[in-house]
Amino acid sequence: MAGIYVHIPFCLSRCAYCDFYSTTRPQRADDYLVALSQEMQARRQEPLSEGVAASVPFHTVYLGGGTPSVLTVAQMETLMATLRNHYVVADDVEATVEMNPEDIVSGAYAADAHSLLALRMMFNRVSLGIQSFDDQLLGIIRRRHNSSHAIEAVHKLQDAGFTNISVDLIYGLPGQTLEMWERDLDKAFSLGIQHLSAYALIFEPGTAITRWRDEGKVQEADEETSVAMYDSLCRKARLEGFEHYEISNFARPGFASRHNSSYWNGVPYLGFGPGAHSYDGLRTRRANKPSLEAYMTSPACQAHQSIEYLTDEELYNETVLCGLRTSKGIDLEAVRRRFGADRLDYLLRMAKPYLQGGLLINTLQFLHLSELAVMTSDDIISSLMA
Ligand code: SF4
Repeated sequence: MAGIYVHIPFCLSRCAYCDFYSTTRPQRADDYLVALSQEMQARRQEPLSEGVAASVPFHTVYLGGGTPSVLTVAQMETLMATLRNHYVVADDVEATVEMNPEDIVSGAYAADAHSLLALRMMFNRVSLGIQSFDDQLLGIIRRRHNSSHAIEAVHKLQDAGFTNISVDLIYGLPGQTLEMWERDLDKAFSLGIQHLSAYALIFEPGTAITRWRDEGKVQEADEETSVAMYDSLCRKARLEGFEHYEISNFARPGFASRHNSSYWNGVPYLGFGPGAHSYDGLRTRRANKPSLEAYMTSPACQAHQSIEYLTDEELYNETVLCGLRTSKGIDLEAVRRRFGADRLDYLLRMAKPYLQGGLLINTLQFLHLSELAVMTSDDIISSLMA
Protein backbone atom coordinates (compact mmCIF):
# COMPACT_ATOMS: atom_id res chain seq x y z
CA MET A 1 0.00 0.00 0.00
CA ALA A 2 1.16 3.52 -0.77
CA GLY A 3 -0.50 6.91 -1.07
CA ILE A 4 -0.25 10.19 -2.97
CA TYR A 5 -1.13 13.56 -1.46
CA VAL A 6 -1.50 16.64 -3.66
CA HIS A 7 -1.71 20.01 -1.97
CA ILE A 8 -3.89 22.71 -3.52
CA PRO A 9 -2.66 25.89 -1.79
CA PHE A 10 -5.56 28.19 -2.66
CA CYS A 11 -8.49 29.45 -0.60
CA LEU A 12 -10.97 32.17 -1.43
CA SER A 13 -10.38 33.68 2.01
CA ARG A 14 -8.70 32.64 5.26
CA CYS A 15 -10.69 31.11 8.11
CA ALA A 16 -9.99 32.55 11.55
CA TYR A 17 -8.58 29.37 13.11
CA CYS A 18 -6.56 27.92 10.24
CA ASP A 19 -2.78 27.61 10.05
CA PHE A 20 -2.58 25.34 6.97
CA TYR A 21 -0.43 26.68 4.18
CA SER A 22 -2.55 28.40 1.53
CA THR A 23 -2.80 31.67 -0.35
CA THR A 24 -5.88 33.56 -1.53
CA ARG A 25 -4.81 33.68 -5.19
CA PRO A 26 -6.76 30.90 -6.96
CA GLN A 27 -6.33 32.78 -10.25
CA ARG A 28 -2.85 31.21 -10.34
CA ALA A 29 -4.31 27.70 -10.49
CA ASP A 30 -3.50 27.04 -14.17
CA ASP A 31 0.17 27.96 -13.68
CA TYR A 32 0.19 25.89 -10.50
CA LEU A 33 -0.99 22.80 -12.36
CA VAL A 34 1.94 23.20 -14.77
CA ALA A 35 4.31 23.43 -11.78
CA LEU A 36 2.77 20.31 -10.21
CA SER A 37 3.28 18.44 -13.45
CA GLN A 38 6.95 19.48 -13.43
CA GLU A 39 7.41 18.28 -9.85
CA MET A 40 5.78 14.92 -10.66
CA GLN A 41 7.90 14.55 -13.79
CA ALA A 42 11.10 15.34 -11.88
CA ARG A 43 10.32 12.96 -9.03
CA ARG A 44 9.00 9.97 -10.91
CA GLN A 45 12.40 8.23 -10.75
CA GLU A 46 12.65 8.87 -7.01
CA PRO A 47 12.23 5.59 -5.11
CA LEU A 48 9.17 5.37 -2.92
CA SER A 49 11.13 3.58 -0.24
CA GLU A 50 14.38 1.67 0.11
CA GLY A 51 14.44 -0.82 -2.79
CA VAL A 52 10.87 0.07 -3.83
CA ALA A 53 10.37 2.03 -7.05
CA ALA A 54 7.53 4.55 -7.26
CA SER A 55 6.13 2.53 -10.16
CA VAL A 56 4.03 0.48 -7.70
CA PRO A 57 0.26 1.02 -7.82
CA PHE A 58 -0.92 3.73 -5.39
CA HIS A 59 -3.98 2.74 -3.38
CA THR A 60 -4.95 6.15 -2.09
CA VAL A 61 -4.95 9.59 -3.69
CA TYR A 62 -5.88 12.63 -1.62
CA LEU A 63 -6.36 16.19 -2.88
CA GLY A 64 -6.15 18.43 0.16
CA GLY A 65 -5.57 22.06 0.87
CA GLY A 66 -6.16 24.85 0.96
CA THR A 67 -9.35 24.30 -0.97
CA PRO A 68 -9.16 21.85 -3.88
CA SER A 69 -12.73 22.72 -4.87
CA VAL A 70 -11.59 26.17 -6.06
CA LEU A 71 -10.29 24.21 -9.08
CA THR A 72 -12.79 23.83 -11.89
CA VAL A 73 -13.70 20.37 -13.06
CA ALA A 74 -11.52 20.92 -16.16
CA GLN A 75 -8.56 21.80 -13.93
CA MET A 76 -9.24 18.70 -11.79
CA GLU A 77 -9.26 16.59 -14.96
CA THR A 78 -5.92 18.06 -16.02
CA LEU A 79 -4.43 17.38 -12.60
CA MET A 80 -5.67 13.80 -12.37
CA ALA A 81 -4.54 13.07 -15.94
CA THR A 82 -1.08 14.41 -15.04
CA LEU A 83 -0.95 12.27 -11.93
CA ARG A 84 -1.97 9.13 -13.84
CA ASN A 85 0.58 9.99 -16.50
CA HIS A 86 3.39 9.80 -13.97
CA TYR A 87 2.16 7.27 -11.42
CA VAL A 88 0.13 4.06 -11.45
CA VAL A 89 -3.19 4.34 -9.65
CA ALA A 90 -4.65 1.06 -8.36
CA ASP A 91 -8.03 -0.05 -9.73
CA ASP A 92 -9.51 -0.04 -6.22
CA VAL A 93 -8.02 3.36 -5.30
CA GLU A 94 -9.64 5.45 -2.59
CA ALA A 95 -9.57 8.86 -4.28
CA THR A 96 -10.58 11.71 -1.96
CA VAL A 97 -11.11 15.37 -2.72
CA GLU A 98 -11.60 18.00 -0.03
CA MET A 99 -14.41 20.42 -0.86
CA ASN A 100 -16.02 23.45 0.70
CA PRO A 101 -19.84 23.71 0.65
CA GLU A 102 -19.93 27.11 -1.06
CA ASP A 103 -18.10 25.73 -4.12
CA ILE A 104 -20.82 23.11 -4.53
CA VAL A 105 -23.76 25.42 -3.92
CA SER A 106 -22.70 28.68 -5.51
CA GLY A 107 -19.19 28.27 -6.90
CA ALA A 108 -17.39 26.25 -9.54
CA TYR A 109 -19.63 23.18 -9.09
CA ALA A 110 -22.98 24.99 -8.99
CA ALA A 111 -23.11 26.55 -12.44
CA ASP A 112 -22.89 23.29 -14.40
CA ALA A 113 -25.11 20.42 -13.28
CA HIS A 114 -22.74 17.89 -14.86
CA SER A 115 -19.62 19.05 -13.05
CA LEU A 116 -20.30 17.00 -9.91
CA LEU A 117 -20.99 13.95 -12.07
CA ALA A 118 -17.66 14.54 -13.79
CA LEU A 119 -15.99 14.87 -10.39
CA ARG A 120 -17.57 11.57 -9.39
CA MET A 121 -15.72 9.93 -12.29
CA MET A 122 -12.39 11.01 -10.72
CA PHE A 123 -13.06 10.70 -6.99
CA ASN A 124 -15.01 8.17 -4.95
CA ARG A 125 -14.78 10.04 -1.64
CA VAL A 126 -15.43 13.68 -0.64
CA SER A 127 -14.30 15.31 2.56
CA LEU A 128 -16.55 18.32 3.16
CA GLY A 129 -15.33 21.17 5.40
CA ILE A 130 -18.56 22.10 7.21
CA GLN A 131 -17.17 22.78 10.74
CA SER A 132 -20.57 23.82 12.15
CA PHE A 133 -24.22 24.13 11.17
CA ASP A 134 -24.65 27.23 13.37
CA ASP A 135 -24.67 30.38 11.22
CA GLN A 136 -23.46 32.61 14.03
CA LEU A 137 -20.48 30.36 14.80
CA LEU A 138 -19.69 30.02 11.09
CA GLY A 139 -19.58 33.82 10.91
CA ILE A 140 -17.24 34.07 13.91
CA ILE A 141 -14.74 31.65 12.41
CA ARG A 142 -15.09 33.34 9.01
CA ARG A 143 -16.32 30.42 6.98
CA ARG A 144 -17.88 31.44 3.67
CA HIS A 145 -20.89 29.12 3.82
CA ASN A 146 -23.97 29.00 6.02
CA SER A 147 -25.85 26.05 7.43
CA SER A 148 -28.28 25.69 4.54
CA HIS A 149 -25.38 25.72 2.04
CA ALA A 150 -23.76 22.88 4.01
CA ILE A 151 -26.93 20.77 3.97
CA GLU A 152 -27.57 21.48 0.29
CA ALA A 153 -23.96 20.58 -0.55
CA VAL A 154 -24.30 17.13 1.05
CA HIS A 155 -27.56 16.51 -0.83
CA LYS A 156 -26.01 17.58 -4.15
CA LEU A 157 -23.06 15.24 -3.62
CA GLN A 158 -25.46 12.40 -2.83
CA ASP A 159 -27.54 13.21 -5.92
CA ALA A 160 -24.35 13.05 -7.99
CA GLY A 161 -23.78 9.50 -6.74
CA PHE A 162 -21.18 9.98 -4.00
CA THR A 163 -21.65 7.21 -1.45
CA ASN A 164 -18.61 7.96 0.71
CA ILE A 165 -18.94 11.44 2.20
CA SER A 166 -16.99 12.66 5.18
CA VAL A 167 -17.88 15.79 7.13
CA ASP A 168 -15.46 17.85 9.24
CA LEU A 169 -16.81 19.50 12.39
CA ILE A 170 -15.06 21.57 15.08
CA TYR A 171 -16.08 21.73 18.75
CA GLY A 172 -15.05 24.12 21.49
CA LEU A 173 -15.78 27.14 19.27
CA PRO A 174 -16.11 30.51 21.04
CA GLY A 175 -19.57 30.76 22.58
CA GLN A 176 -20.54 27.20 21.60
CA THR A 177 -22.51 25.40 24.29
CA LEU A 178 -22.88 21.64 24.70
CA GLU A 179 -26.45 21.92 23.36
CA MET A 180 -25.22 23.76 20.23
CA TRP A 181 -22.59 21.08 19.65
CA GLU A 182 -25.15 18.33 20.04
CA ARG A 183 -27.37 20.06 17.48
CA ASP A 184 -24.40 20.08 15.06
CA LEU A 185 -23.83 16.37 15.62
CA ASP A 186 -27.52 15.52 15.19
CA LYS A 187 -27.64 17.49 11.97
CA ALA A 188 -24.49 15.83 10.59
CA PHE A 189 -25.72 12.31 11.38
CA SER A 190 -29.18 13.08 9.95
CA LEU A 191 -27.60 13.71 6.52
CA GLY A 192 -26.72 10.06 5.88
CA ILE A 193 -22.95 10.59 5.79
CA GLN A 194 -20.44 7.74 6.05
CA HIS A 195 -17.59 9.42 7.96
CA LEU A 196 -17.12 12.17 10.52
CA SER A 197 -13.92 13.94 11.55
CA ALA A 198 -14.44 16.06 14.68
CA TYR A 199 -11.65 18.21 16.05
CA ALA A 200 -11.37 20.35 19.16
CA LEU A 201 -10.59 23.95 18.24
CA ILE A 202 -6.88 24.60 18.60
CA PHE A 203 -5.64 28.15 19.10
CA GLU A 204 -2.67 27.97 16.74
CA PRO A 205 -0.03 30.70 16.90
CA GLY A 206 -0.46 33.43 14.28
CA THR A 207 -4.15 32.81 13.57
CA ALA A 208 -6.83 35.49 13.86
CA ILE A 209 -8.72 33.55 16.52
CA THR A 210 -5.63 33.32 18.73
CA ARG A 211 -5.15 37.06 18.41
CA TRP A 212 -8.80 37.65 19.37
CA ARG A 213 -8.37 35.38 22.40
CA ASP A 214 -5.23 37.24 23.46
CA GLU A 215 -7.10 40.53 23.08
CA GLY A 216 -9.93 39.17 25.24
CA LYS A 217 -12.47 39.24 22.40
CA VAL A 218 -13.20 35.50 22.47
CA GLN A 219 -12.75 32.85 25.13
CA GLU A 220 -11.46 29.29 24.99
CA ALA A 221 -13.97 26.61 25.96
CA ASP A 222 -13.31 25.39 29.50
CA GLU A 223 -12.05 21.86 30.00
CA GLU A 224 -15.29 20.58 31.51
CA THR A 225 -17.26 21.69 28.45
CA SER A 226 -14.67 20.21 26.05
CA VAL A 227 -14.78 16.87 27.85
CA ALA A 228 -18.59 16.86 27.80
CA MET A 229 -18.55 17.67 24.07
CA TYR A 230 -16.13 14.84 23.33
CA ASP A 231 -18.20 12.41 25.44
CA SER A 232 -21.31 13.42 23.59
CA LEU A 233 -19.53 12.98 20.24
CA CYS A 234 -18.43 9.42 21.13
CA ARG A 235 -21.85 8.48 22.50
CA LYS A 236 -23.86 9.83 19.57
CA ALA A 237 -21.47 8.32 17.01
CA ARG A 238 -21.79 4.92 18.70
CA LEU A 239 -25.60 5.16 18.73
CA GLU A 240 -25.53 6.00 15.02
CA GLY A 241 -23.47 2.85 14.30
CA PHE A 242 -20.19 4.69 13.63
CA GLU A 243 -16.92 3.04 14.64
CA HIS A 244 -14.52 5.22 16.61
CA TYR A 245 -11.38 4.18 14.77
CA GLU A 246 -9.12 7.12 15.64
CA ILE A 247 -9.23 9.81 18.33
CA SER A 248 -10.96 12.33 16.04
CA ASN A 249 -12.39 10.02 13.38
CA PHE A 250 -15.59 8.00 13.18
CA ALA A 251 -16.87 5.89 10.30
CA ARG A 252 -19.65 3.54 9.36
CA PRO A 253 -18.23 0.00 9.08
CA GLY A 254 -16.04 -0.23 5.99
CA PHE A 255 -15.71 3.54 5.58
CA ALA A 256 -12.62 4.37 7.67
CA SER A 257 -10.37 6.64 5.61
CA ARG A 258 -7.69 4.45 4.05
CA HIS A 259 -5.54 7.48 3.25
CA ASN A 260 -5.53 8.93 6.77
CA SER A 261 -5.09 5.45 8.27
CA SER A 262 -1.91 5.06 6.25
CA TYR A 263 -0.42 8.11 8.01
CA TRP A 264 -1.03 6.41 11.37
CA ASN A 265 0.15 3.02 10.15
CA GLY A 266 3.51 4.11 8.69
CA VAL A 267 2.57 3.47 5.05
CA PRO A 268 4.82 5.28 2.51
CA TYR A 269 3.39 8.26 0.66
CA LEU A 270 4.45 10.95 -1.78
CA GLY A 271 3.36 14.55 -1.27
CA PHE A 272 3.32 17.14 -4.05
CA GLY A 273 2.98 20.91 -3.85
CA PRO A 274 4.26 23.56 -1.43
CA GLY A 275 4.25 22.40 2.18
CA ALA A 276 3.51 18.76 1.22
CA HIS A 277 5.31 15.97 3.07
CA SER A 278 6.55 12.61 1.81
CA TYR A 279 7.50 9.56 3.88
CA ASP A 280 9.30 6.39 2.84
CA GLY A 281 7.58 4.22 5.45
CA LEU A 282 10.95 3.57 7.10
CA ARG A 283 12.76 6.59 8.51
CA THR A 284 13.00 9.35 5.90
CA ARG A 285 10.58 12.23 5.79
CA ARG A 286 10.79 15.01 3.23
CA ALA A 287 8.91 18.30 3.18
CA ASN A 288 8.46 20.76 0.36
CA LYS A 289 9.00 24.35 1.38
CA PRO A 290 5.65 26.03 2.22
CA SER A 291 6.05 28.83 -0.30
CA LEU A 292 3.98 29.12 -3.47
CA GLU A 293 6.44 31.67 -4.88
CA ALA A 294 9.46 29.39 -4.46
CA TYR A 295 7.50 26.42 -5.78
CA MET A 296 6.28 28.21 -8.91
CA THR A 297 9.80 29.42 -9.68
CA SER A 298 11.33 25.96 -9.48
CA PRO A 299 8.90 23.15 -8.65
CA ALA A 300 11.37 20.38 -9.33
CA CYS A 301 14.18 21.84 -7.28
CA GLN A 302 15.33 19.61 -4.45
CA ALA A 303 16.48 22.76 -2.60
CA HIS A 304 12.84 23.28 -1.71
CA GLN A 305 12.82 20.04 0.22
CA SER A 306 13.96 19.54 3.76
CA ILE A 307 14.96 15.99 4.62
CA GLU A 308 14.71 14.47 8.07
CA TYR A 309 16.10 11.06 8.98
CA LEU A 310 14.32 9.69 12.03
CA THR A 311 16.42 8.05 14.72
CA ASP A 312 15.28 4.81 16.39
CA GLU A 313 14.12 6.86 19.34
CA GLU A 314 12.07 9.20 17.14
CA LEU A 315 10.59 6.24 15.28
CA TYR A 316 9.63 4.58 18.55
CA ASN A 317 8.01 7.81 19.74
CA GLU A 318 6.03 8.04 16.50
CA THR A 319 4.92 4.44 16.91
CA VAL A 320 3.57 5.30 20.38
CA LEU A 321 1.93 8.52 19.21
CA CYS A 322 0.31 7.09 16.08
CA GLY A 323 -0.61 3.76 17.70
CA LEU A 324 -2.40 5.34 20.65
CA ARG A 325 -4.41 7.63 18.37
CA THR A 326 -6.07 4.58 16.82
CA SER A 327 -8.68 2.33 18.42
CA LYS A 328 -6.53 -0.71 17.60
CA GLY A 329 -3.58 0.69 19.53
CA ILE A 330 0.16 -0.04 19.51
CA ASP A 331 1.11 -3.40 17.96
CA LEU A 332 3.28 -4.89 20.73
CA GLU A 333 4.88 -7.56 18.57
CA ALA A 334 5.79 -4.92 15.97
CA VAL A 335 7.49 -2.88 18.73
CA ARG A 336 9.52 -5.93 19.80
CA ARG A 337 10.49 -6.75 16.19
CA ARG A 338 11.45 -3.22 15.26
CA PHE A 339 12.95 -1.84 18.47
CA GLY A 340 13.89 -4.94 20.50
CA ALA A 341 12.74 -6.66 23.68
CA ASP A 342 14.26 -3.99 25.97
CA ARG A 343 12.19 -1.25 24.36
CA LEU A 344 9.04 -3.37 24.64
CA ASP A 345 9.80 -3.91 28.34
CA TYR A 346 10.24 -0.16 28.74
CA LEU A 347 6.88 0.49 27.06
CA LEU A 348 5.04 -1.99 29.27
CA ARG A 349 6.78 -0.67 32.40
CA MET A 350 5.76 2.92 31.57
CA ALA A 351 2.24 1.74 30.77
CA LYS A 352 1.79 -0.10 34.07
CA PRO A 353 0.26 2.73 36.17
CA TYR A 354 -2.20 3.56 33.39
CA LEU A 355 -3.12 -0.11 32.97
CA GLN A 356 -3.80 -0.32 36.70
CA GLY A 357 -5.84 2.88 36.54
CA GLY A 358 -7.98 1.59 33.65
CA LEU A 359 -6.71 4.27 31.25
CA LEU A 360 -4.83 1.82 29.03
CA ILE A 361 -5.85 -1.68 27.94
CA ASN A 362 -3.39 -4.45 27.02
CA THR A 363 -4.96 -7.14 24.83
CA LEU A 364 -1.54 -8.92 24.74
CA GLN A 365 -1.40 -8.09 21.03
CA PHE A 366 -2.20 -4.37 21.23
CA LEU A 367 -1.94 -1.61 23.82
CA HIS A 368 -4.72 0.93 23.43
CA LEU A 369 -6.41 3.80 25.27
CA SER A 370 -9.65 3.12 27.10
CA GLU A 371 -12.58 5.48 26.39
CA LEU A 372 -11.93 7.07 29.80
CA ALA A 373 -8.47 8.14 28.72
CA VAL A 374 -9.01 9.81 25.40
CA MET A 375 -9.20 13.38 26.78
CA THR A 376 -5.98 12.87 28.75
CA SER A 377 -4.21 11.00 25.98
CA ASP A 378 -1.50 13.65 25.52
CA ASP A 379 -0.14 13.05 29.04
CA ILE A 380 -0.24 9.26 28.63
CA ILE A 381 1.43 9.38 25.22
CA SER A 382 4.30 11.56 26.53
CA SER A 383 4.82 9.23 29.51
CA LEU A 384 5.28 6.25 27.19
CA MET A 385 7.74 7.98 24.91
CA ALA A 386 11.50 7.44 25.09
S1 SF4 B 1 -9.81 26.00 6.92
FE1 SF4 B 1 -9.69 25.31 4.80
S2 SF4 B 1 -10.79 26.92 3.66
FE2 SF4 B 1 -10.31 27.80 5.65
S3 SF4 B 1 -8.34 28.86 5.36
FE3 SF4 B 1 -7.88 26.80 6.10
S4 SF4 B 1 -7.52 25.58 4.29
FE4 SF4 B 1 -8.59 27.46 3.63
